[in-house]
Amino acid sequence: MARFVLCIHGGAGVIGRDQDTARIAAYRDGLSRALDAGRLILETGGKALDAVQAAVLAMEENPLFNAGRGAVYNSAGGHELDAAVMDGSSLACGAVAGLSRVRNPIRAARLVMERSGHVLLAGPAADSWAGEQGLQLVDNSWFDDPYRYEQWMKASAASRVQMDHADEPDSAKGTVGAVALDTHGHLAAATSTGGMTNKKHGRVGDTPIIGSGTYANDQSCAISCTGTGEQFMRHVVAHAIHARMSLAGESLTDACDHLVHRVLTPGDGGLIAVGKDGSWAMPYNSLGMFRAVVTSDGERAVAIWED
Ligand code: ASP
Repeated sequence: MARFVLCIHGGAGVIGRDQDTARIAAYRDGLSRALDAGRLILETGGKALDAVQAAVLAMEENPLFNAGRGAVYNSAGGHELDAAVMDGSSLACGAVAGLSRVRNPIRAARLVMERSGHVLLAGPAADSWAGEQGLQLVDNSWFDDPYRYEQWMKASAASRVQMDHADEPDSAKGTVGAVALDTHGHLAAATSTGGMTNKKHGRVGDTPIIGSGTYANDQSCAISCTGTGEQFMRHVVAHAIHARMSLAGESLTDACDHLVHRVLTPGDGGLIAVGKDGSWAMPYNSLGMFRAVVTSDGERAVAIWED
């Protein structure tokens, strides 16, 4: 069988190593399940695009991760969700920003790609359009989670914008993502997020900005980022990696390391990457990153910190 690779992330930064073991085990289990959702598709000859969507969907449904249910709160005490998907074989892509009613933003991003004739739809009109396309709409309170509410109360009392998973302010980021190479040699990337705790109402991060938080191109790589969105947008991180590989001939590892360790500022976050040759990388400059990888060669790993 031709080679497949799937990498996923559940956010950069970390929960403390001193968190109760049941919570840590739940994170590992959540990553593992999302990995399997994508792996099953790749293993049976399915498309990278479907695999990354399935992996992200599994994490959107898991309140432990800052995407879909369990998304962080914005400054108005509600949830606004961003997501994007990109097919490296055709450069087709779709994204949504500031959704407040679509249960699974990654499905909406895929529909934008396939049915809208556009790349990015935003706000309440995007929610309504997704509903018309048959996606499930929920009340905004459906995304509520008591843990995130507590995070927001603390962040808002201190007037600070905070990354998800953060027990300490700014010590961790949220967002979920997946990148894959399928057995047909095609690449795809998907990312979904609730953004940052106490972000301004209306703020959009890097996740739905094609080339910043999400990018895939069969000529080079597939990338999904997590961290301080403004930094990833400023440096157009995902596309910069593609450019270094395709224009300068850099390897996936070198291009990713350059962006994460030389361009971004320590603490900004990290990314997952798969190259067209099946190479993969998951570098970060935060204290950790929820991440996992599986390949057709039998490689499989789930990690949070530098284990
Ligand atoms: N990059 C996301 C954003 O800025 C947040 C994150 O990854 O934690 O919206």
